[in-house]
Amino acid sequence: MSETPIRNVIIIGSGPAGLTAAIYTARANLEPLLIEGEPSSTSDQPGGQLMLTTEVENFPGWPDGIMGPELMMRFREQALRFGTEVITRKVSKVDFSAQPFSVWVGDPDTAEPTYRARSIIVSTGAQSLMLGLPEESRLLGHGLSTCATCDGFFFRDHDIAVVGGGDSAIEEALFLTKFARSVTLVHRRDELRASKIMQDRAFANDKIKFAWNSTVVGITGDQTVESITLEDTTNGERRELPVTGVFVAIGHKPNTDLFKGQLQLEDNGYLVTHDGSLTDVEGVFACGDVQDHVYRQAITAAGSGCMAAIDCERWLEAQGEH
Ligand code: NAP
Repeated sequence: MSETPIRNVIIIGSGPAGLTAAIYTARANLEPLLIEGEPSSTSDQPGGQLMLTTEVENFPGWPDGIMGPELMMRFREQALRFGTEVITRKVSKVDFSAQPFSVWVGDPDTAEPTYRARSIIVSTGAQSLMLGLPEESRLLGHGLSTCATCDGFFFRDHDIAVVGGGDSAIEEALFLTKFARSVTLVHRRDELRASKIMQDRAFANDKIKFAWNSTVVGITGDQTVESITLEDTTNGERRELPVTGVFVAIGHKPNTDLFKGQLQLEDNGYLVTHDGSLTDVEGVFACGDVQDHVYRQAITAAGSGCMAAIDCERWLEAQGEH
């Protein structure tokens, strides 16, 4: 018989979705445990993707903008204020095959789980795929961005580049033409992966130029981006492209490795949810970017965190557990 106490709810992940779920479940007296992750690199820390941004101007309620990390700190403070217990560790294993659900941090091979709970809210987010250049961590938020909706406004009348050839890259490039003087789409092949209609829109836009067969092998800039170095994939020649902004749009990866074999995943790796935040396992809910490859905004993640908390509370109530 396991000695580990059974909690009402464990929330895994601490971006806007997880912290909003914490605020709501805490205010519903569910005494949530939030396992927020732990810093393992500059691009992987508790608080999610907003920890990697600078100014956030589109989060309602902050008319003068707010720095991403400060916004997340305030989310966290609000969750703590209502009694959320926060653990700064990474979950190493989960077992959702039987009630109560089991969650491990640290050594995943111990027989006894570290925590058990009647319900789980998964909010582990997603990460933008990056080019893998050493300058990226230094310049992210300083001319280098992974979100045109968030940062496009800062590049009014700039010459900028978008890297990638899929629908995301074209969508970002088209959006950025509203602000930028020119947008160079840098793609590693000589044809786009994007859908035909998106391609047609890009080709018809005078502000979009194309750097075909090109990979970015360097980003120059001390405080902020000044130029990028492109290498021609056909002959290896290098050239400098003077741009003050670079948007990397080569895809996203949801943080779902932990849930393979436990929860239903889409072909692209995102968690499948239905009827709000329900997963295919009763009592396990998911919210935020881990289950959303369409909107991917802080405000939509926060909204879905609220939905997951309400779904969870109602489910526990229906079980007679709350
Ligand atoms: P994607 O379709 O996987 O495209 C990624 C692009 O980035 C590809 O062109 C790929 O090049 C390039 N790339 C990948 N790794 C790279 C690297 N290390 N260096 C340089 N280039 C690299 O991803 P996505 O554009 O994010 O789209 C994901 C899904 O969402 C797709 O199904 C897409 O249709 C959908 N989506 C739809 C819309 C819309 O309909 N409005 C908008 C956004 C996304 P290669 O082509 O050479 O592989």
